[in-house]
Parts: sequence; C-alpha cells; structure tokens
Amino acid sequence: MTNPLYDTLFGQHQGKTTPFLELGDGTVITHKDYLQLAAQYAHVFKKLSVQPGDRVAVQIGKSPQALALYAACVQAGIVFLPLNTAYTADEISYFIENSGARVIICDGKRSGTLQPIAEATGAILETMNNDGSGSFALHAEAMPTVYATTDRSEDDLAAFLYTSGTTGRSKGAMLTQRNLLSNSQALTKEWSFTSDDVLLHALPIFHTHGLFVATNISLLAGSKIIFMQKFDLDVIIEQMPNATTMMGVPTFYTRLLEDERFTKKVAAHMRLFVSGSAPLLAETHALFEERTGHRILERYGMTETNMNTSNPYTGERRAGTVGFPLPGVEIKITDSKTGATLPQGVIGEIEVRGPNVFKGYWQMPEKTSEELREDGFFITGDLGRIDEDGYLHIVGRNKDLIISGGYNIYPKEIELLLDDEEGVLESAVVGVPHPDFGETVVGVLVAETGADLDLDAIKNNVGISLARFKHPQKLVVLPELPRNTMGKVQKKALREEYKDLFA
Ligand code: ATP
Ligand code: MG
Repeated sequence: MTNPLYDTLFGQHQGKTTPFLELGDGTVITHKDYLQLAAQYAHVFKKLSVQPGDRVAVQIGKSPQALALYAACVQAGIVFLPLNTAYTADEISYFIENSGARVIICDGKRSGTLQPIAEATGAILETMNNDGSGSFALHAEAMPTVYATTDRSEDDLAAFLYTSGTTGRSKGAMLTQRNLLSNSQALTKEWSFTSDDVLLHALPIFHTHGLFVATNISLLAGSKIIFMQKFDLDVIIEQMPNATTMMGVPTFYTRLLEDERFTKKVAAHMRLFVSGSAPLLAETHALFEERTGHRILERYGMTETNMNTSNPYTGERRAGTVGFPLPGVEIKITDSKTGATLPQGVIGEIEVRGPNVFKGYWQMPEKTSEELREDGFFITGDLGRIDEDGYLHIVGRNKDLIISGGYNIYPKEIELLLDDEEGVLESAVVGVPHPDFGETVVGVLVAETGADLDLDAIKNNVGISLARFKHPQKLVVLPELPRNTMGKVQKKALREEYKDLFA
C-alpha cells in the first residue's frame, strides 16, 4: 500500500459502478463517478502547485463535490481542512492565518468577502458553488479522471479539524491517516456496517460526526448514503423507509419524536440509530424506544480523538451512558489535580489513549503539552465516571464545573432533577460569579409547549434532594437553549448572559 487511507477507504472502489451518494432529486453518484471527480480535483491541486502536507481550507455547502475535495486531498497527500459554513469573515481569517492554508475554496457568493484574507495571507482563492460550478470546477473540467496516488504513511497528516469552540477559541487538531483509518475500521466492525447498508446522512460535513464517522464508515463498508443538504423532517420521514441506519445529534431525535408522522412503521426498515456530539436525554431514549421499538445507540467522541466509546451493538444499550471504550482505545478516570487514576465509580477527568488520538494542536505546543500526556493519554476536558458494569457516564465538561464556597457542583446532577419537574422540557445549569461563594448556581429552563412553570415550586422540589450549596439561587425561563449546529448547548453564552445576576 502506498497511501493507506486513500487505498482503504477510496481506492478499493476504483472503477466500481456501485451507488455511493443518492441525492434529493434521485440522482445517484457511483463510487466510480465520485473517484473520477476526486482525481480531477487532485490534478487541479497539482496545477496550483499545492504540495503534499499543505493545507487546503474548504468553506462550502454540503455537496458531492465537497466530499470529492476530501477524497482529492487524501489522494494527493494534502491536509484537508473543512470549515463551518456559518463562520464569518473574521472567524475565517483566524483559521486561514492559524493553519497557513495554501488554498481557500469558498462559495462564489463569499469570494468578495474572503479575497482580502487570501491576499493578506498569500493563499490562492478558488470558488465552488453548491451546484458544483465555480473557478475550481472550471480548472477540473479538462483534467484526466485518473490520478497517481501520492505516497503517504499512516503517520502523515490527513486533516486539520478545528474544535467547535464550545469552551474557548477553536483549536486545530492535527489528525493523521492512522487516526481516521483506525477509527473507521473499529466503528464499521462494532456497528456491523456492510455494503447492504443505506445511511441517512443529514449532518453537516465540516464536523467529525458527519465527515469522519458517517462518511468514512460508509466508504469503508461500501454502504450507500442518502445525502441530504440538511436535517429536513419531511425528507427524513419520506426517506427513512429506504434506509437502514441514521446518525444524528440529539436534536434530530427530539424533533422526530415531536412529529406524529414519525411512526413505528416509518422506522421499521431501520436497523440502527446512532446519537452523539451532545448528551442524549434518557427520556428521549425511552420515548424513542416506546415509539419505534429501537434503542438509540449513543457514542462519545470529539474532534481530537474521533470516537472513543460506544454503547454495544449487541448487548444492553444503557440510556444516559456512552458505553464502553472502542477496541484499541483505553479510557481512565483521573483526579484533575494530581492525574492519579481514581477508583471505579468516582467522578473525574476522562482521559483517552489509542490509535484514534490526534497528534497535537497545530502551532499550539503549550496547549498540546497541557492536554496530551507524554504517555499518550489525552485529557479530554470532560468529566465522567465508570459504573460497576463498565459503562462510561459523562457528567459534563471540566470548564462547566461550578465551584461554590469551595465545593464542586456538577451541573448534570441538578439538570437531571430540573428535567424531571412538571412542565420542564429541558434545562442547563451554569455557575455565575457570586460575592460570597465565588460562584453560585443558576438554572435555565425551557418549558414544554403550553406549560406555565411555577418556579418557586420547582426550586423547592429540587431543593429537597440537593445539599444546600447546590440549590439553584435563581431559575430563569428561556424559549430555547442556545445551541450550535451540532446541538451543543452554549454554556459560555449563558454564563455571559447571567454574569451580573449577583454582582
Ligand atoms: P471546544 O473543544 O473548542 O471547546 P467542543 O469540545 O464542543 O469545542 P467538539 O470536538 O466538536 O468540540 O465536541 C466534543 C465534545 O462533545 C466532547 O468533549 C463532549 O463534551 C461532547 N460530546 C460528544 N459526544 C457526546 C455524548 N454522547 N454525550 C455528551 N457529550 C458528548
Ligand atoms: Mg473540546
């Protein structure tokens, strides 16, 4: 093998007319079509003098062409750098400067805005529109449909993926071929993906979930993807009877459950529903099973590590947990201060080691050495515990931990109680500055449709089961929690919003 990631995921399909992507209008793109397009794109990179190891930043909509850019980068040994389509010019400027990208590919509509950034950094700007047209596509038209794959080793970088920026500024995670390959192999096996599978794909492809988990597994297994622009309930419900699996963020599942058309019959052809990127409420898990007979399989991962743990495919899928370490992955729970491994059942920092763990943050040696230990364990920043049966429970992020009067408060404990209160749809608990205690607890609630929340009663009720220092000092009601595109609650924004409540 000369390029393990390319050969294993893509090259195996060379010349095959098997279906890879089925689009909304029924068009089917075969593996062969897809790889030919990728080869043409790889030739364009060569013409633009992009060298192996150079970064290509891509901020374009979800299209087969966008996925072909990924394959082209892998084939030419280029580091693929997908960017959230919601990022503004200021944000993009950080990513381009930070990554030193040689090429920026954007939608034609944005080229005017991004041109100054390209000029300032010396990057080449090319356009690719949602329909596949644009300057990059024009270069590609006359190119040969075969490309001599660039030699790479498993230690070479395949992608830079920036973290979601939930806890601070996004960091560029350097992912090697081995990181991506080992994870797709582990997941394909664990979740029993085969060429008979048809995956409903409604996730964005600039994030690890939709790009590396969903796409890489489908490529490895030779499964077909029903490729949707975005999560559209009408389309999902219409297409589900043609599919066998779906990967989603928790909001996909809550939104499906809110729709009466989503019935047991609609889900009858499915064999697997996977959830991740944010916590799935145990209640959603239970309601989903009641409605469809399916138990959602929840897994845990992150930009820096791909997937770490998963509930079992066969065996008990335990609601509110993220299951067991994947084969080849080690998990330990440690004391945040000393780094010592804690006894089973005790809450601490989740650390992970394995072939899935990234090489470090690009040009952030200090951050890298703070989070990536010399022995290979990565300090995830998530807190959790392992139950007596070995299932990992995530209790929140280290940065969301509230310290009030010297005591640690885990927001999740309070959120679970608030969620159980009558009329409460969901909640988020954050710590805000307090003159006496350092920090104190604020509970943000979202009411069920039509419910009128009795905040005093809720405060009293949760107070019964909580030590005094954990009592929410204030409850507020919002129409919805602030979330990013991956369904992650933006606690940073809530802390900012309520920072002066007790000041
Ligand atoms: P940043 O690192 O920039 O603050 P981020 O951590 O949100 O952003 P991602 O790498 O996209 O960026 O998200 C990984 C995080 O998502 C994990 O560390 C974890 O907190 C959360 N997560 C992923 N899957 C689950 C899950 N099943 N349950 C709970 N949390 C999850
Ligand atoms: Mg993170």
